Amino acid sequence: MGQTAELGRRVELVPMDPHFHDITLALYRQASPAGPVYLVHSYSRRPGAEDRLDSIAGAMAVLGGMELAGPRLLRFSCGADHELACRRVFLEACKQGPGQPAAQRPLTFFDKKSSHQIEIAALGGGEYRVGLEGGDASRAAAVAAGLVKLGQLQAPAPDQVAFACGQAHDALVGLLLVRAVNVRATLREQELLAARGMLVAPSAQQQ
Ligand SMILES: [Zn+2]
Repeated sequence: MGQTAELGRRVELVPMDPHFHDITLALYRQASPAGPVYLVHSYSRRPGAEDRLDSIAGAMAVLGGMELAGPRLLRFSCGADHELACRRVFLEACKQGPGQPAAQRPLTFFDKKSSHQIEIAALGGGEYRVGLEGGDASRAAAVAAGLVKLGQLQAPAPDQVAFACGQAHDALVGLLLVRAVNVRATLREQELLAARGMLVAPSAQQQ
């Protein structure tokens, strides 16, 4: 019980790590004087598990533009929680195999649905504008709406998104963009994981 309290509140779970012996991976949220911090954790005692957790935390720092605040402990430099976006960063980092170095995703992405390149412009103050090469305003608005949903962002205009903290988060936007083009599939995947997480949660808590 003491250990659970120390870990904080679990916010995301990957029941079986595809890259390391199917161990259960979890992300915990803790309070700190500098704002919320997130801990990458596993109850697995398997040799090598700690290295795997280190590599996931390292991948999260790159993919989410986060800072390492301690061993396997991450935070956003703005001090905000960005919890939903952070959960997505964790899920993407867990998909990264130990041998694959993580790279920050760019603010451009080819949209198969419209056959156009999506280009996101940073406007400053934590605001971004979604543009499509062909100038398709409704598709740009749909992608922006996907970003808002996946990142819990604000929507100052139909084709714009903004972080409430007022800080730039280019890495997060690039990461979420890849998912925002197909937001329904992403949300389905999240629900599936949550359902599986409920099934394994009791044993994962006690191990
Ligand atoms: Zn922020």
